[in-house]
Order: sequence, then structure tokens, then C-alpha cells
Amino acid sequence: MKSGIAASKGYAIGKVIIKSHQEIKVTDELITDIKGEKEKFLSAVEETKRQLEKLKEQTARSMGEEEAEIFEAHMMMLEDCELVDAIISEIEVNHFNVIKAVSQATDRFIAQFEAIEDEYLRERAADLKDVRNRLMANLTGNSVDFKIDEENIVVVAHDLTPSDTAQLDKNKVIAFLTDVGGRTSHSAIMARTLEIPAVVGMGDITSSVKNGDKVIVDGFTGSVIINPGDDDLEIYKKKINEYQEELKDLKKLVSCETRTKQGKRIYVAGNIGKPEDIYQVIENGGDGVGLFRTEFLYMDRNSAPTEEEQFESYKFVLEKMGDKKVVIRTLDIGGDKTLPYMNLPDEMNPFLGYRAIRLCLDQKDLFKTQLRALLRASIYGNLSVMFPMISGVQEFLATKEIVEECKRELDEHGVVYSNDIEWGIMIEVPSAALCAEELAQYVDFFSIGTNDLIQYTLAVDRMSEKVSYIYNPMHPAVLKLIKMTIDGAHKHGKWVGMCGEMAGDESAIPTLVEYGLDEFSMSASSILSAKKLIMVL
Ligand code: PEP
Ligand code: MG
Repeated sequence: MKSGIAASKGYAIGKVIIKSHQEIKVTDELITDIKGEKEKFLSAVEETKRQLEKLKEQTARSMGEEEAEIFEAHMMMLEDCELVDAIISEIEVNHFNVIKAVSQATDRFIAQFEAIEDEYLRERAADLKDVRNRLMANLTGNSVDFKIDEENIVVVAHDLTPSDTAQLDKNKVIAFLTDVGGRTSHSAIMARTLEIPAVVGMGDITSSVKNGDKVIVDGFTGSVIINPGDDDLEIYKKKINEYQEELKDLKKLVSCETRTKQGKRIYVAGNIGKPEDIYQVIENGGDGVGLFRTEFLYMDRNSAPTEEEQFESYKFVLEKMGDKKVVIRTLDIGGDKTLPYMNLPDEMNPFLGYRAIRLCLDQKDLFKTQLRALLRASIYGNLSVMFPMISGVQEFLATKEIVEECKRELDEHGVVYSNDIEWGIMIEVPSAALCAEELAQYVDFFSIGTNDLIQYTLAVDRMSEKVSYIYNPMHPAVLKLIKMTIDGAHKHGKWVGMCGEMAGDESAIPTLVEYGLDEFSMSASSILSAKKLIMVL
């Protein structure tokens, strides 16, 4: 039996597929067989082109010709004589081994692209990085594509990025396990959205299992049984049946209004990352959407979504929720959520760096595209917009100024939008919680983002399993900041929600209700049990 951090509840019994962890080492070893090394390179180029051609065809079929063009661009890079000649010359002249030759030459080209003013050309650096990774993988016998054809699969990985998780097909993958990560890392949050069990921060699970092993995953306790015996299989089959019965029972609460015993109405909403996630929120009786993490619209693609694409996504969610409140959060990229095509800087402390609203205030065009899409979609439902990582009043005012600029531009073109949009902020930076009373005078609402608030208050990386024992939502300092936020908002007649994972934590809910929290927003799979609990408080 192995154990880790229980990141998403549920049980699964399935077959292991390991997603290999590829960190390709570049060594300085010099070679003598120049001809052999050149041949290795040229055959990796051919293999890479073959894969790209296949991906291009697949993408054209599943997503359309336009999306498939990116692979054509990648193929052209491999046909670029200048690049190929540069790599060959590293082998011929410097006697570099092929891995080092590819790495040196492509890095030089990438740096040149990154230095170009023109945004379009600058973005080609990300494409070249993709090509380089594929080439390197082919040279070392690895694979960069992760495709699962069988059902009942438990994915085991050193780590899963949010975009890896977004690619998991729930019809095939029934659970995942990782060596690293914490309960509030974004891949764990995605697991809860997918409603599949997950155990993270297991330390060495990738070296403890092999492809094809049978495992039992217990997403409640964080334990994993490798190649279980009949007794364990019996026990867990029984647990799975009981859990399914319990879920059926909870379904009776879907259309119930949630009130405490004293009669206070509490809104229990859902967190979503993709427009389609809305169906799970509806099925689980959510009172609306308390957090739409829009950055997921920007992932798994080669460029940012257009205004039109975003407009369609927001409109879809708003229409589906009718008159229920939908809180859409503007782009929160950075930290553990990266976008290859944005060339974000490498930082020592990405969670403290160029992230969320800081990035949006700096990249105004990117931000305005999203704001225009939100404003235009606002007439289709009950929209609230919130900004992530606000640290103080000035930042909020600067943000609102850009909103006003967008409104003026839409007015000039006679484009309509709602005047009833609520504009709120996430409270996830301790300084914002400490200034809550002042901030409440400017905003329409707060939503407490405890995932970050806890990491910044206790100085504990939310991604690290090594220090996860310090990550305590019930720490008195965290509770004090939450209470201050709620009191500050209520003093000015504003409502307060919570959309961090703490909102769905049954051991924290009673305290939060006592503090007067108005709205709880969580993974759809937690909504019904939270409703049940609140009704007896
Ligand atoms: C939070 O920080 O609590 C939050 C909801 O935002 P995210 O998890 O996306 O950082
Ligand atoms: Mg956050």
C-alpha cells in the first residue's frame, strides 16, 4: 500500500499507464563518428515530420483546417535550411553530440525570435520550442504525445500540468496518481471537476508501479493498493457500491434551496474551467457559477482565443444558467498555469511574479479582448466579473479604468452590454484581506480565494507535498483574514463568497457559515454534500 495526499474523492479500480517524465539531459560529451551522428539527426527529423503530418491530419479532422495549420508551420521549421545547417554544423565543426547540437542551435534561433518586436514573430519562439522538444524526444526514444486508447485507466505521472489534465478523457481515465503536487495544485482541482479520484504528492509512485499493474485508488484517504488481493478487491467493490448509493441519496437535494436552521439563505455554486463543465454544476443543483477559471480557455492551443471565441463561451454559460449568477474571473495565468505561446519569463518565484491581473494590466490588448467579450456576452444572463490577485485599491481602480475604456469603445460602435454587471475581486493576497474594509467601498463583491490566500499567508507553496503539512485552512491567521474580509464587506453592504477549495471542505463549512459567508463555490462534485451539511447548521 502506498499513500499520498487525497486530492479528489471517489474510488477506482483500474489498470496503470505511466506517463513518462521526460527531462532530457544535455551532456558536453564530444563525438568522433560525425557521419553516424548526422544520420541520427536526419532520421529524427524524418520521424518528427511523419508525426507532425499525422497530427496535422488528425487535428484537421477533429478541430478543423485552421487549427491544423500550426503543424504545417512546425514542419516548415524542420525544412528550414538555416536551422538544419546550423545543427549539422554544430556536429561537424564542434563535434557536439546530436542532443547538444540540437539544443545549442535551436536555443540560438529561439533567442533571436524572442528578441523580435513583432508579436507574431515573437510567438514563433514557442513553436520552435515545441519542434525542439519533439525532435529531442525522438532522438532519445521518448514520446511527447500522450494518448490513451483503453478504458479503466489510472494515469500515473511524476506531475501533470493543468493542460495535461485538461486532455484526460473521462471515459477512459478513471483516476490519476502523481509523485508531486498538493491538494490545491491546479491538476488536483481539475480532477475534482472531472469527478475522478486522484492522489497526489505520493513521492515515488512512478517508480513503484509498472504499466499494466492493477491498482485500487482511494481518493478519500489518499491510499493506493498495488496489485491487490481478492480480499481488498472485495472490500473496495463494496465501498464503490455504497458510495454510489450515497450519491443517489444526495441527488434528492438537487432542487432544494439551501438555508441554515436559522433561515439564512446560502448560495452554493460551482467552479468551472470549461464551458461544458456547466452541465455538472446544473446536475448537482448549483445555485450558479461562483468561479469560471477562464484561463483554461487559453490552454491546449497555439494562440489566445479570439474575442469571438470567448464571447461564444461566456454567452453559452450565461444562457445555460438563466437568471442564476455567473461569476467569471478574468485571465489568471502564471504560477503553475503557463501558456507556451505567451513566452512568460522564467522567474525565481512564479507565484509571486508576473501573474494574473499583473500580467493583464501589462498586456492591455490581451486583457481588453477578454473584457470586450465579457461585456458583449453580459446581455445573455446574470454576469458578475472578478479580477484575480488584486493586492490593493489602486490596482482595482487601474483595472476598472480599462473596463471603462472598453465600454467607451463599444459605445462608439453602438455595441450593447448590460449595465447591471457586478464587478468584484478575489481576496487571495493577504494585503487585500487586510484592506478589505477599504476595498469594499469600491467593489460590488468579494470572493475569497483560499488556495492562494493560505499559501501567501503561511508562506507555504500550494504545489509542494514536502511542506503540505503546513498548509492548514484552519490556521488562526487564515481564519482571522477570512473574518476580516467578511466583516469588511458586510460593513459596506457587499456580499462575500469563497471559491477556493476551502469552500467545499466539510470540516471548514460550519466555521464559515458562522462567520457569515454568503456564497460557497466549489467543484460540482462537492455541491450536494455541502448543501446537506449547511441545512443542519
Ligand atoms: C484560489 O486561489 O483560491 C482560487 C480560487 O484561484 P486559483 O485556485 O485558480 O488560483
Ligand atoms: Mg488563486
